Amino acid sequence: MQERYCDCGKSVLVDFTPKNHDWLATFWEHYSNSGRKTQICPGCGRPLHIHTLR
Ligand SMILES: [Zn+2]
Repeated sequence: MQERYCDCGKSVLVDFTPKNHDWLATFWEHYSNSGRKTQICPGCGRPLHIHTLR
């Protein structure tokens, strides 16, 4: 997993799965020991896209 940052500064964890010569990115909310899948930033609520995260 990699840690990425939204424009708002909130960190999320990204897991990459190979799929059809590309990568499927799954986003997880960043908690200390656990997390859950999410499609939006837990900080600002914007949809998460791998290419817009830092
Ligand atoms: Zn955000």
